[in-house]
This record gives sequence, C-alpha cells and structure tokens, in this order.
Amino acid sequence: MHMNSPWNRLLLLIVLLLFLNGLYSMMVAPPATERSAEIGYSLFKQLLKDDQIAEVTLEGDTLSGHFFAPIALAPEQRIATTSESIESFERFETVLPPVADTELLPLLEEHDVSFKAQKTEDPPYWLINLLPWLIIIGIWLLILNRARKQGGLTGGLLNKMGESGAKLYTREKSPITFAEVAGQAEAKQELQEIIIYLRNPEKFSRLGGQVPRGVLLTGPPGTGKTLMAKAVAGEAGVPFYSISASQFIEMFVGVGASRVRDLFNTAKKNAPSIIFVDELDAVGRARGTGLGGGHDEREQTLNQLLSELDGFDPHDEVIVLAATNRPDVLDTALLRPGRFDRLVVIGRPDWRDRVEILKVHTRNMPLADDVNLEVIAKGTPGMVGADLRGLVNEAALIAAREDDDMVRMNHMEQAKDRQLMGMERKLFMSDLERHITAVHEAGHALVAKALPHTDPIHKITIIPRGQALGITQQLPTDDRYHYNRSYLLNRMSVMLGGRVAEAVVFKETSTGAQNDLKQVMDLAEKMVCQWGMSERLGPLSYPRGEEHPFLGRKLTTEKTFSERTAWIIDQEIRQLVNSAETAAKEVLNANRKLLDLLAQRLLAEESIDQEGFERFLEGNEKIRLPAEAD
Ligand code: ADP
Ligand code: ZN
Repeated sequence: MHMNSPWNRLLLLIVLLLFLNGLYSMMVAPPATERSAEIGYSLFKQLLKDDQIAEVTLEGDTLSGHFFAPIALAPEQRIATTSESIESFERFETVLPPVADTELLPLLEEHDVSFKAQKTEDPPYWLINLLPWLIIIGIWLLILNRARKQGGLTGGLLNKMGESGAKLYTREKSPITFAEVAGQAEAKQELQEIIIYLRNPEKFSRLGGQVPRGVLLTGPPGTGKTLMAKAVAGEAGVPFYSISASQFIEMFVGVGASRVRDLFNTAKKNAPSIIFVDELDAVGRARGTGLGGGHDEREQTLNQLLSELDGFDPHDEVIVLAATNRPDVLDTALLRPGRFDRLVVIGRPDWRDRVEILKVHTRNMPLADDVNLEVIAKGTPGMVGADLRGLVNEAALIAAREDDDMVRMNHMEQAKDRQLMGMERKLFMSDLERHITAVHEAGHALVAKALPHTDPIHKITIIPRGQALGITQQLPTDDRYHYNRSYLLNRMSVMLGGRVAEAVVFKETSTGAQNDLKQVMDLAEKMVCQWGMSERLGPLSYPRGEEHPFLGRKLTTEKTFSERTAWIIDQEIRQLVNSAETAAKEVLNANRKLLDLLAQRLLAEESIDQEGFERFLEGNEKIRLPAEAD
C-alpha cells in the first residue's frame, strides 16, 4: 500500500504519541516502591477498627490511604497488588460499596484517622493528561520548523511534510568554481556550454542553442563528480539542489517519489538552477531487476524521476546533473534523448592532474621547501582526488603530531605509504602488471599506426577504467557507415596487437586480452556470416544468432545451414583471425625497439594523447612496415 507522505508522517506521529502517552502514564502511576494493595471493603473496616490505618483519602468511589506501619496481607486478602512477590504493604486502596455506609464517618472519627475528600476532577488531573499532548505538539512544531529552514520555502503546513532534503547552495554560500577542481580539462570543457546557458538562458535560446537537459557524470568514486557539479553551479552563479539517490530508498514508502517531485518543483521555482542527483544507480538500476523489499519503492521513485525529466517544458531553465560509477547498470530509459542524453566522463587523474590536485589541497598549508609534489604524484598511480585529499590531510596530522610547524616531504611520504596500505588492491597494480599493461597498449597503438586504413590514435592510457586495465582509443576521422574488408582486417590486427605485443615482449600472454579477443571474434563472425566477406562461402548470409541488445547473450536462432557449412564458417573465421594476428606480429617484430620505448613512455606518463603520440614518433626512428623489415 502506498500513501502520500503527509499521511505517512501523521501516522508516525500518532504512533509516537500513543507510545509517549503510555510511557507517561507509567511514570505518573504510584511508584512501584510504595507497596500498595487493593483490598476488600470489609477488610478495610476490620483494619480500621484494629487501629492500623493512619489516614484516608476519598476520591470518587475509591478510598486510599496509608497504614501506620507496613502490614502483612495474605494473598487471599488482596485483590490486586503492585507486586506479587511482596507480602507487607504501606498503602491500600478500596472501592466503596454502592450503598451508603453511615457507619464509616463516625468510625473514622472514633479511631482518629485523618480524612480527606478530593474532587474527582481537580485541575492537576486533566493537566497531567494533557501534558504528553503538549510535548508531542512541541516536537512536531520543532520538526516543521527545521523542514522549513532546510527547504527555504513558504507554504502550507502539510506541504512541508514532504519537503525534499535537497540542500540549497548558492554562489554566496558555496563559492566553488572550476579553480577548485584540478585537472579534468575535458570534462570542464564539455560542461562549459551548460554554464554559458545557465548564465544567460534567454540569450542562449535566442541564438538557437540546444542545451542538454540531463548530463550524466560517470567515473570511479572520489574523482570529484560532486565537486564538479557544485563548481558548475558556482561558475554559473545559480542555486544548486543536491540529493543522493540512495536517500530515496531509505525513506518511508511513497516518500521517494514525492521527494523527487518536490525537488524538481523547488528547482523550477528558483530557476535557473541545477539539480544534482548523486548515486543515480541506486534508483536508476534497470527496472525489473533486484529482489525483495525496497525494490517496488525504487521503481516508483525511478518512474517519478523519468516523468519529471519528461515534464520539463523548454522554458524551464533547470539542468539536471547526475553522478554514477555504474553507468552500465542504469535503466536504458534514463539514457534516452531528452533525459540523461549527455555523458561526461570524470576519469582517474594522470600524474600531471594529480600534481594539480595536490596543489589545490596544499594551497593553505605551510609547506617546507623540500616538498616535491611531482614525486608524490608520480608515486600514487590510481589514486583519485578524494584519496589525495586524504593523503594531504594525513600529512598535516603527522606534522602536527610531531610538533612540526611545517609539512615536510617525509610527512608526505609517510602519509602516502599509509594511504597506499589502506587502499589494498582497490586498483593497485604491481609494477609488473603495469608493465604488461603498458606493453599491451603500446602494441595496439603501434599496429594501428603502422597499418594503412586505420583510425588515428586519440589516446593511450594505462590508467585503469572500469574493467579495463588500460585503453587505447582510436577516433575515426569522420563518421563512417560502410567499412571495407581491408579496414576490418586491419582493425582486427589492431585489436590483437595488445596480446601479440605481450607475446613478443614477455613470450607469454595474459588474461588482459579477453575483451579484445571477444571483439575480434564478433567482428570476424560478422564478416563471414553477415557481410559475405569470405571467399569460400561467397556472398551468403548465415544467421548464427544475434546478440540481444539488453540481455548481453545470444538468442538462439534456428540454423538454416548444414553442419558442413557450419564447419566451413568456423574455418573461415579462424583463417581471418589468423591472418590478422600474423599482420600484427609482423608489425611488432619489425618495430620491437619502438614497442619497448613506447611502453616505457607510457609507464612514465600514464597517458599519451594524439599529439604526444605524434611527438613520440617524431623523436624516434621511423615506424617500419613489415615489408621493410630486415
Ligand atoms: P565523487 O562525487 O566523484 O565521489 P567527490 O566530488 O565527492 O567525488 O570528491 C570528494 C573530494 O575529493 C572532493 O570534495 C575534493 O576535496 C576531492 N577531489 C576529488 N577530485 C578532485 C579534483 N579533481 N580536484 C580537487 N579536489 C578533488
Ligand atoms: Zn587490449
């Protein structure tokens, strides 16, 4: 059952109220230390006659009072007691019989018992009953007041209760700019457009600019996605509303969706503005996955998010930024045009960027002259911004503990070692692993460079990202829709170049090439079965099952060819892959020296861009085509 959040909270309040009321009446009841027993009327009169009773109070039809001294009462003499285990009692209580007892008052006087009558409805009584309610109302007002402060909005009381927990950052409050975000030049450049738009939305629209509505920042944790989003808000000087998607899930049923709604409404009212949804994957996982509780709630929240994204009209000057380190698990609906259709990668920093990050975080620190941030940066491959900030803080702590008034290099070194030990295998590669990765990527790059009809190298890096230990990116010079056979063959050679390089240098291959092999196989299979590029089989199409776009596995299709044909297909695929591998081998054997040099350069620089690669090639002997090899 899903309810609107105000009712939910009301329900919670009532439950809380009943609980407190119970607690309170327990506290108001006579303390259990006063041993009290309820006794019958005749026993009471007997005790009165025996001069045991000191005083009595009449309240309604109940008489209660004290004995002169604790007296023992057998279990059958008492009707109820404060505790079963005790036998002697200081107090008593008894109920008057419905017929008037004319004997009672004279008897009390005769035995000199002080007697008091109390009105049943005296003021303290109702006040006592009211008190818990007053407390509750007080607490409620307090909660509402806090919600109001956080939301920064005016509105009805009930509206307040569903208020989102989004924090408001304005330029005044959080003046984070790009200066605080070190490195990430590419990401900054991509986000520049959004800043220009937010600064002057009308002008931008008038000039016919098309702004993305949603931008997805992806990258490992701690790389500064949140920081970047805040900086965009700071640069544009617009309010920043942030919420972590995992918060939605923790809430009561139905609250997630209403929070999303409130968040968007608030942002629209204060437009131009930025909404930042952290940990988008917490709500954005593909629907229909996951088990058990919370999952229904998650889907509801996701649906609300999708409908809010669709519900923007072109005049809403709101940009939604979201962050995730798992873009692969996101529901594809989130990535459709008009939603999060722009992807900005916030990658792990290379050593140059790490120097910049260290500089940012040591800006206000008294640094000794011997501190060399470049050395620290080079010694911390794989660390992200958050790790480096931790390292710098740790160094300051160590310096303080040593009573030093400056942070010195040896403090930095100690902090680094501590940080590294804490990181365990998070992404830590041994020197050998890094070397293998460097050789592997250098192999891809050199084969691509040597063979004709290949795309130019865009970037080579041995900074791990996602599943990959390193990446060699090629960028096609222009969009192509048709590929010819020699392009595809050479492309296979490039894909195999990594593995071949490992074999050439280490005389051994590693598991790092798994993804390459899968791609090669897919390509070869398509060439043979779909594009008719095998001479033996000719221009025929052989369906071998197609990859399901979402499930990532093959759908079985009925075979329309004989076992013999299947055998020939396998042979043809094998032959294509073999010839591609041979070409790669020839290239790398002919350029063995370059391969080693490039791997060394990669180890030193971690990533090399297109220009850097060109410069490397110019500075060394010319790359040789296999035919030129001696
Ligand atoms: P993410 O959102 O990607 O997990 P955060 O933005 O929360 O990462 O980063 C955590 C902290 O690490 C930041 O507040 C900042 O102090 C530091 N940090 C991360 N990246 C950078 C960077 N590029 N430059 C400066 N500081 C950074
Ligand atoms: Zn590879």
